[in-house]
Amino acid sequence: MSEVLVLVEQHDGAISKVTGELLTAAARLGEPAAVVVGKPGTAESLAGALGALGAGKVYAAESDEAAGFLITPAVAGLAAAAAAAGSPAAILLAATVEGREIAGRLAVRLESGLLADAVDVTDEGGVVVATHSVFGGSYTVRYKVAIGTPIISIRPGSIEAAPTAATATVVPVEVTIDPAISAVVVADHPEPVGDRPELSSAAVVVSGGRGVGSAENFHIVEELADVMGGAVGASRAAVDSGYYPPQFQVGQTGTTVSPQIYVALGISGAIQHRAGMQTSKTIIAVNKDAEAPIFEIADFGVVGDLFKVAPQLAAAVKERKG
Ligand SMILES: Cc1cc2nc3c(=O)[nH]c(=O)nc-3n(C[C@H](O)[C@H](O)[C@H](O)COP(=O)(O)OP(=O)(O)OC[C@H]3O[C@@H](n4cnc5c(N)ncnc54)[C@H](O)[C@@H]3O)c2cc1C
Repeated sequence: MSEVLVLVEQHDGAISKVTGELLTAAARLGEPAAVVVGKPGTAESLAGALGALGAGKVYAAESDEAAGFLITPAVAGLAAAAAAAGSPAAILLAATVEGREIAGRLAVRLESGLLADAVDVTDEGGVVVATHSVFGGSYTVRYKVAIGTPIISIRPGSIEAAPTAATATVVPVEVTIDPAISAVVVADHPEPVGDRPELSSAAVVVSGGRGVGSAENFHIVEELADVMGGAVGASRAAVDSGYYPPQFQVGQTGTTVSPQIYVALGISGAIQHRAGMQTSKTIIAVNKDAEAPIFEIADFGVVGDLFKVAPQLAAAVKERKG
């Protein structure tokens, strides 16, 4: 069986949740092999955890400079791992801002087809097929590549991690970084999210829209998110109105989320918002307008005032949790 390469997303030794999802997807297509890009010693320190997530092999694409540049070390590392693997069945990355750019550059480097923002992958008689939810979730389409190794970026949260643990062997590969085509990292400080989970991979997302009315009122959204152990999101209208910071925008031009539960408070459900949350497993909408388009895709809808409904919902969840 051919190997399937997975780019490991990690920060300071913490492996992101999506990496487990990608390794589960990889196991459907072949033998999962993780690719770690970083400073020397990073792969060795992560090998145990990656084995537990199903990786039988860990390619160590390491160099002292790897952490000093954006994007290009990962492209070089994946290209080197693909050469070492021989003919991998596919290369999987997270459809995050960084993952998308790496995937595009890698596709050019390897002269291979790219399938962007997939929500599922299957092996159909030796052919790798990716499923995509497009046009705001109105259509489900299935694609395969016409040339080279399928390079597939997968939406975080769309595949549930179900690992079969393996013992990972670390295999070093050489990475050559060309500073002339690389952006230099001058500072590296992820935005603090406090105790809340990261938006793109959270199991629960509670989002507020223009209906929330002001930045001060957004505590209602935050309180419900906190009691549900979720991340906070916002519609573009809420962001443009200055109610919430832009990095929390959900939708076509924001973050794509696919949580178990998505709660939309005071969000109309415009197609550009739906594009970023329509694959959520259960959608709960609270809107005072019974005709709001969000109700077309909601599994559970409340026609009412969010200022009354959200606090009651938070209190009920809190009571259930004891
Ligand atoms: C190129 C492009 C890209 C875009 N990308 C995005 C994107 O990534 N994400 C995104 O979200 N949008 C995006 N948009 C904007 C999108 O078209 C909508 O304008 C936006 O999603 C509307 O946000 P909203 O639902 O919060 O506001 P509105 O459409 O104004 O809806 C507010 C809703 O709140 C309800 N409401 C008001 N008060 C209450 C209350 N007290 N209780 C309950 N309900 C209440 C109203 O009934 C209404 O349905 C994009 C647009 C374009 C053109």
